[in-house]
Formats: sequence, structure tokens, C-alpha cells
Amino acid sequence: MITTDICIIGAGPVGLFAVFEAGLLKMRCHLIDALPLVGGQLSEIYPQKPIYDIPGAPGIIAEDLVKNLLLQIEEFKPGFTLGERVESLDKQDDGSYIVTTNEATEIHCKVVVIAAGLGSFEPRKPAVERLEYFEGKGVHYMVKRPEQFRNKKIVLAGGGDSALDWAIFLSDIASRVTLVHRGETFRGAPDSAAKVFELAESGKIDLILQSQVNSLNGNGVLKEVSILGNDKSLTTIETDDFIPLFGLSPKLGPIADWNLGVEKSAVTVNTLDYSTNVERIYAIGDINTYPGKLKLILCGFHEAAIMMQSAFKYVYPEQKLSFKYTTVNGINAF
Ligand SMILES: Cc1cc2nc3c(=O)[nH]c(=O)nc-3n(C[C@H](O)[C@H](O)[C@H](O)COP(=O)(O)OP(=O)(O)OC[C@H]3O[C@@H](n4cnc5c(N)ncnc54)[C@H](O)[C@@H]3O)c2cc1C
Repeated sequence: MITTDICIIGAGPVGLFAVFEAGLLKMRCHLIDALPLVGGQLSEIYPQKPIYDIPGAPGIIAEDLVKNLLLQIEEFKPGFTLGERVESLDKQDDGSYIVTTNEATEIHCKVVVIAAGLGSFEPRKPAVERLEYFEGKGVHYMVKRPEQFRNKKIVLAGGGDSALDWAIFLSDIASRVTLVHRGETFRGAPDSAAKVFELAESGKIDLILQSQVNSLNGNGVLKEVSILGNDKSLTTIETDDFIPLFGLSPKLGPIADWNLGVEKSAVTVNTLDYSTNVERIYAIGDINTYPGKLKLILCGFHEAAIMMQSAFKYVYPEQKLSFKYTTVNGINAF
């Protein structure tokens, strides 16, 4: 069991900055994210776009903002559990919580902060026969640990950036990479598409275009995929793993079952301190709603600062909080 003061659900920009505001008050944080990487929408949807409304950082590229946020919280040594989705919150007799993920990781904390953005990103599943049967037995919707594919035969499907990027990356790790795509050209970045065509020409990967994986076969574990061409031809290839990469869509998911006030897929909060209707549970960033709410990173940062001042009383019930500027107090690392 991991023990911390504050468990933050969601490692998007707001969850990350919340660690800084907590750290200034000597409160330790552990972050959990369903994605295998930090940064939330910035990393998943628009890593290369410039953001123009971050104070003091005009036109900052989204992935650079994420890097800077990580740098800013480094001294407070937050813990991370990535690639796992929070499923349940269980209140203990002393008011603290045990937060449990889909992979049974447990975090014991005094305060829960929901910074879950639009909800957890769930994979879009293609219509492939026996796809769900082989989940955990050869089917993966995200690449969490590339090393697990070392010397394996893998089939990737999709035509966007993820499919292209992973086909390129895994071509140096897997024994054989096959990329199946229903079109003739790719939606992903032209540079990546050109690299994939180059790798296919040099025989480093197999590219099967104008085709779709239509069924999976194997006895208990995945053994082969059947591929249906647009011309109705059917090919079967042996594989250890199948990785369909058709994007992710956000879902409120388990948060809807935590007895919180919810309006239009967002958690209602008191704007005094961004607390929810359940004691010790706060909601900040895109996941919350209140009159006048703006889904902006800037607003989430403000909410994080206010919220942590309020959470202090649960972490240090014996102490009185006195507000200090960082220019006066400095940053006292853990
Ligand atoms: C194309 C685009 C452009 C944008 N441009 C701007 C802009 O210019 N300026 C601006 O201020 N804002 C912009 N935004 C909005 C901005 O990205 C969001 O306001 C911001 O990402 C919210 O941050 P967050 O940390 O609240 O949530 P998110 O970034 O959504 O992160 C939430 C994280 O929580 C995780 N999560 C959710 N549920 C669970 C669970 N149950 N268990 C574990 N993890 C979970 C998710 O996987 C996700 O990683 C833009 C958004 C988009 C899509």
C-alpha cells in the first residue's frame, strides 16, 4: 500500500501543478493517471500546439509546458502510478481514504483531489471478432511498456500518429512489426508516414494497406490475426500481440459512482475552496463545474492553489495555516 497526504487522480496540467501548491504547504502527493504518460490533454491531444494564454509563457508548446510543470514539482518528489485507472474510493473510520485502481494498486491518503479532466481516456475499439476475448492475452490498446514487445511478432492497426509512431519505435524492439491500415495514405504526421514507407521498403516492417484486421484466433492466447483486404482477399498472419490504435475518447467512468454531485458530466464544487459535496474530496480543473466555469489551464491552476490551502486542515489538523509568498519563504524541498 502506498501512503501519502494527498492522492491526485489525473496527472494533467492541473494535477501536476497541484503538487507544487501542496508542496509549498509541506503536503506530499501521489498522482494516478489512466494514461501511460503525464500531461493529460496536452500530451494526448495536442503536444505540438502552442498555447497562448499561460501567464508569462507566451506561445509555449504544450509538451514543453508539461516538461516545465514536471521540473517545477521535482523537489516535492511526487509519486506516480501511470497506466492505471482509479476505480474506487473507500472512506476509512478516521476520515482518510483508500484509493484503488483497476490493477489493484492501493493508495492511502488523507485527502483526495480529482483532477480528472474530461474523464479517463478509454480506447476506441475496432469491430474485430474475438477482440475482447483476447484482452490481456495478446490484445493491447496502449503501449505502456515497449520492452514487453522485445523479440515478439506484433501487428499494429490504425492510420493516425500513434500507429505510425509506435510502428517506427517498435521496429527496433520487436522481431517483426506489421502495420495494417484501411486506407492507402495516413492521417498522421507526413514525416512519420514517410518514415513508415521507408521502413516498409527496406523490409524492416510489413505494411498492409487497404485492409482491416477482422478476427483474432488462438487457443487461450493470441496466435494469429485474419486480415480482410478491401478487395475481399483474406490473409492470416502469425502474431504474439495485436495493438489496435484508433484513438482514445474521454469518459467520466467510475467517478460517476462516487456519490458526488454531477452536472453535465462534471463534478459540482463549492467555489470557496473547490470542495465537493463529500468531505476531503476536492475537484479541480476541467472535471469540475460551477457558475462561470471556464475550462482553461489557467483557471485550473488557480483552483489548485485555493484548494490546497483548504486541504491543509486535514493533513495538519493541529496547525494553523499562515499564508506566505514563495519569494519570502522560498521552496523547502522534501
Ligand atoms: C485541442 C485543444 C486545445 C486547447 N487549447 C487550450 C489553450 O490554448 N489554453 C487553455 O488554457 N486550455 C486549452 N485547452 C484545454 C486544456 O487542455 C484543458 O483545460 C486542460 O487540459 C485541463 O487540464 P486537467 O489537468 O484538468 O485535465 P486533463 O488535461 O484532461 O487531464 C486529466 C487526466 O486525468 C486522467 N483521468 C481521468 N479519470 C481518471 C481515472 N478515473 N483514473 C486515472 N486517471 C484518470 C486522464 O487520463 C487525464 O490524463 C485545449 C484543449 C484542447 C482539446
